[in-house]
Amino acid sequence: MGLFSKKSCDICGGEIGLLGNKKLADGNMCKNCASKLSPWFQDRKHTSLADIKDQLAYREENEKEVANFNPSLSLGNGSTVVMIDEDQNKFIVTSARKWRDTNPDVIKFDDVLGCEMKIDLSSYEDTEQGPDGETHKTGIVENTYTFNEIIRVRNDFFDEIRFTLGKVEEETGSRNSFMPGLKLKIGPGEINFGGGGSQGSNEHSAEYYNLANIGAEIKRIIMESRAQVKSAQAEAAKPKVAVTCKCCGATTIPDEIGRCEFCGGKAE
Ligand SMILES: [Zn+2]
Ligand SMILES: [Zn+2]
Repeated sequence: MGLFSKKSCDICGGEIGLLGNKKLADGNMCKNCASKLSPWFQDRKHTSLADIKDQLAYREENEKEVANFNPSLSLGNGSTVVMIDEDQNKFIVTSARKWRDTNPDVIKFDDVLGCEMKIDLSSYEDTEQGPDGETHKTGIVENTYTFNEIIRVRNDFFDEIRFTLGKVEEETGSRNSFMPGLKLKIGPGEINFGGGGSQGSNEHSAEYYNLANIGAEIKRIIMESRAQVKSAQAEAAKPKVAVTCKCCGATTIPDEIGRCEFCGGKAE
């Protein structure tokens, strides 16, 4: 078998094009079959053909979940949103406008293990050519903050749903005094002769706080929804205990709001 011999897909049997092979731990998969996997799934190359087949069966079942999914709440204002079906206590995370066509994984709130927002910072200091013809650091640092939301879930095929809420770019620092004409340092304060708009080092832009608030709100709603589902489950699982009704003295199993089945009064 030569290096460039044609391969076929171990899932659908179709021929795999020259650059189209999606390698598995013990087999090969075509692009079309790979596109049906969950977007949250990682590490295909180390996954067995058997596990991939299991996942594709789960993904097919998920299509039915998507068909029955009716979002009543949408969170996030970037390209990726969390949509919640409040009646069914389920949610999806999607970037697609026609999300039903992309078979987004429908997650139950009781399969949520946690949720957090992480802000990644990458910084670099600008350089400019000075009057001496050399390249100098300007003293101005460009900071890019990437707001990521991470929802940890219980699922056979992936552990977390990670998506970006947005990015914010901010400048910090002050322009080095040798640079022509922009900023002079005079004591603790500064007079800005140049571009303006620079901000103090402890403050962030409105955009930054807006994204931070969105991330915190998604976390709050996801964790509260999870807690509600868990407490409803715990309530439903409680053994039904008969009591003597305070009102009528009958032996009764109070209903879900504690009323006596005989007299309708508060049993305890
Ligand atoms: Zn295939
Ligand atoms: Zn009673």
